[in-house]
Amino acid sequence: MTLLFVSKTDDPNRWREMLACAVPDLEVRVWPEIGRAEDIRYALVWKPKPGILAGLPSLELIQSLGMGVDHIFLDPDLPADVPVARLIDDDLVRQMGEYVLVTALRHHRRIDEYDRLQRDGEWRALAMPDTATTRIGILGLGEIGAPIAGLLAGLGFAVAGWSRSEKTIDGVESFHGASSLPNFLARTDILVCLLPLTPATENILDKAAFARLPKGAYLINLARGLHVVEEDLLAAIESGHMSGAALDVFRTEPLPTDHPFWLHPRIHVTPHIAGITNPATAVAQVAENIRRVRAGREPLNLVDQARGY
Ligand code: NAP
Repeated sequence: MTLLFVSKTDDPNRWREMLACAVPDLEVRVWPEIGRAEDIRYALVWKPKPGILAGLPSLELIQSLGMGVDHIFLDPDLPADVPVARLIDDDLVRQMGEYVLVTALRHHRRIDEYDRLQRDGEWRALAMPDTATTRIGILGLGEIGAPIAGLLAGLGFAVAGWSRSEKTIDGVESFHGASSLPNFLARTDILVCLLPLTPATENILDKAAFARLPKGAYLINLARGLHVVEEDLLAAIESGHMSGAALDVFRTEPLPTDHPFWLHPRIHVTPHIAGITNPATAVAQVAENIRRVRAGREPLNLVDQARGY
């Protein structure tokens, strides 16, 4: 029984060590050293090069190394009959929550403005923002978005979420379906993007979407770079309509060195680190999926390939 590990960013040795404890009889090969392709039953992947998976004739499971799967569906030759599973990891969800809290609260409590005052040596109190009337909107109330919406509601913010299907989360107003997006945006001061990347959500944050936000709105994007039309975001911030953004993901990663976001005074850039898979917490799920596939059972957290998430 052989697993192929494919990732340029995750540590193969750490995973090999973890998998050796969790599934002792599993052989782990690390791409590009695939050996005899027919031996490989499972692929544990992050951004596999298109065509790699199609070259594995005995493949029974494609397991994403992250919660997102858009990196797998980019492959036009993806074998149609092999199940694709994603990780749903509490530790990753917690990390994503921390990122939203730190960026939302920094903006809400005007810390960026205080940084500017400090640089000018100016001791001045700005008006205290009102939490109860600050409207946070979460695009995507899935595994990550739903608990974060609940967390922010618990802090006293006016929270709403937008999803395909209607949700019931304590203290969170639910908007659902494409027709409700304009009203959702119109009531949102801090917009947090936690949508999956699919044909329906690519470029969803464009000039028209930004124009619907109230003046002074702030964007936090920790989903995928292709959700945002970057020149439209820059224009909305530079015109003064939006107050700024905290961005963890970009259309091109790494963010090109000459990209205007790097030095923009109202944009915070982080290098796709909002949530990083921890093999120590994620390995049990990968091992369980291997056991399930071996036993002819359905893997956990299967992705609906038609929906794309
Ligand atoms: P998820 O569980 O699949 O949830 C997706 C949510 O988006 C669901 O509520 C879904 O609605 C909603 N949605 C999907 N398509 C929609 C559409 N066309 N219109 C309206 N709502 C739509 O996703 P997740 O696991 O929470 O992940 C969220 C994002 O975080 C993904 O993009 C993932 O790649 C990203 N991520 C980033 C990092 C990082 O380090 N930056 C780390 C981990 C994950 P329904 O509930 O009605 O289906």
